[in-house]
Amino acid sequence: MKILITGGSGFIGSNFIRFLLEDSGEENLEICNFDKLTYAGQGKNIGHMGLSHDPRYTFIRGDVSIREQVEHALDLFDPSVIVNFAAESHVDRSISNSMDFVTSNVSGTVNLLDVSIGKLEKFVQISTDEVYGSRKEGSFNEDDLLNPSSPYSASKAAAEQFAVAYHKTHSAPVIITRSSNNYGPFQLPEKLIPLFITNLIDGKKVPLMWSEDNPGLNVRDWIHVEDNCRAIWHILNHGKVGEVYNIPGNSELNNLEITRAILYYFGKGDEMIEHIPHRKGHDFRYSISGDKLADLGFKVDPGSFYKRLDETCKWYEENQSWWRPLKGK
Ligand code: NAD
Repeated sequence: MKILITGGSGFIGSNFIRFLLEDSGEENLEICNFDKLTYAGQGKNIGHMGLSHDPRYTFIRGDVSIREQVEHALDLFDPSVIVNFAAESHVDRSISNSMDFVTSNVSGTVNLLDVSIGKLEKFVQISTDEVYGSRKEGSFNEDDLLNPSSPYSASKAAAEQFAVAYHKTHSAPVIITRSSNNYGPFQLPEKLIPLFITNLIDGKKVPLMWSEDNPGLNVRDWIHVEDNCRAIWHILNHGKVGEVYNIPGNSELNNLEITRAILYYFGKGDEMIEHIPHRKGHDFRYSISGDKLADLGFKVDPGSFYKRLDETCKWYEENQSWWRPLKGK
């Protein structure tokens, strides 16, 4: 299997490459990581994992939003599968600069779909539970309407719609995954969990979005990145072309609960919380059903969320050479 992984230098993409090379059990594997190395791709993750010299791995630096660069990569590598992780991924950045999200997330996806027409067995589009928007109770299933709130989630929803359209129009072998919030090693310290962990390692307070009527109560469903990678691999191998699959973590917590768990690991209390205003359009709760994925034979078993959160804190303590150059970028 020849897999072109876009965004393979980022958080989930690099964990996915490590999973494929070390844990998937797939013997006939060639992987090409196609990544622009934006600020989010500069952690040298594959090198830090000790995998840069694996003969099954190659890297091409390129931008999914530039057609010639995508054509070049496909000519050179000739993949049978594309897994498209490449994206601008930080909601706060999408509020201050939406256009980068349109370029990488929407135009980039359209380029990949267009250049690969007739050439692939599978095209896996990595999307997010954020495309559904917020709901107070219950969970979204794959047939629910998309109702994104942020420019980030709007760009991901638009990318999905193009993927569906290319499936209908050009028979592109598209499968879409929508996972919940990932956590684990190699996540950039701009995202909530690693931001809070790295701040506390440095003795700094943690900024929690807060108001009198909503004191840190926004709910997210957390999935360990390794579980997401396993689920994506299962869907790639067993999922039906043209379908969408939710990947829930089955670990819903509000932000105050997460914050207190991280503070507890470092032996600190609420005195280390700094209240900051909610972001504009802050979705209250994301929740997705995993029934369709279960029917496909895969269920995420989160194990002990708090144990894995502690392991994540420990990883950041032990890998400061990885995150320090990235902090504040
Ligand atoms: P990330 O920001 O850590 O990594 C993104 C990677 O994409 C980086 O290596 C970056 O250099 C690369 N990239 C960005 N623009 C590019 C372009 N134009 N051309 C080529 N490469 C480009 O993101 P992540 O958290 O690993 O997320 C990966 C994917 O998973 C994204 O599509 C995101 O929407 C989706 N997702 C993430 C989460 C999460 O919790 N992190 C949850 C659900 C879905």
